[in-house]
Amino acid sequence: MVATLTNRPISRKASPLSEPRVGVLSVVGTPIGNLQDLAPRAIETLKTADLIACEDTRHTGMLLRRHGIQTPCVSLHEHNERARTPGLLEQVRSGRSVALVSDGGTPLISDPGWWLVHEAIAAQVPVRWIPGPAALIGGLVLSGLPTDRFVFEGFLPAKAAARRRRLETWKEEGRTVVFYESPHRLLKTLRDIRDVLGDVPMACARELTKMFEEIRRGTASELFAHFEQHPPRGEFVIVLSRRQQEERSLA
Ligand code: SAM
Repeated sequence: MVATLTNRPISRKASPLSEPRVGVLSVVGTPIGNLQDLAPRAIETLKTADLIACEDTRHTGMLLRRHGIQTPCVSLHEHNERARTPGLLEQVRSGRSVALVSDGGTPLISDPGWWLVHEAIAAQVPVRWIPGPAALIGGLVLSGLPTDRFVFEGFLPAKAAARRRRLETWKEEGRTVVFYESPHRLLKTLRDIRDVLGDVPMACARELTKMFEEIRRGTASELFAHFEQHPPRGEFVIVLSRRQQEERSLA
């Protein structure tokens, strides 16, 4: 069901005693592929919310139906987030519970929601986090590379010159670097990494939590050679580390 932000009567749903009685904005993590990865607390939050703000109402609708959740949805995506935010915050101020989800994973992480949360905090509207998956964490923990200090770079610039400039900034980076990449840019990015950073140890995590989940570990050259033979498909997290082997054994 798609809701409008206006003319909706205040109808607080019954909620367990542990749930807050004032309105709240809940940032809810959702699966990154496997629909069973929706946490019980996320299900409860989505069921008891008055409204769910989501990127794509049809996409989120599938997840909600799978879990028997009938809460109305309203779209919140990169093109309407600023316009939608005042109305959503007004809903919370008037005592309603609004849940924010994205198409997959944790909202705000290379996904919409930052402006909404930023404005909620500025307006002293209560915000809480209902944890769920984030692809960057899956890629990092399965990479085999050091996890004690890491930096997340989101998506790299699509244009070659800007992408290479970004890679240049990692030349002195001692932390493990995690980023997202689209399958059609993967080969170009691996080639640029090899050219700019040399043969650093890396991992490409593909289709995490899904049927064709795959982790490939190796140097930039090895991974380039593999994906030249096996054209990349699906969603990717890329991880690399410039730290020396001896340092890593001490981490
Ligand atoms: N908010 C999401 C999160 O918490 O991970 C990220 C959203 S971003 C728009 C989508 C990108 O995340 C994909 O292009 C891919 O790089 C990465 N991603 C999402 N799901 C993935 C999966 N199942 N396996 C590998 N990478 C994934």
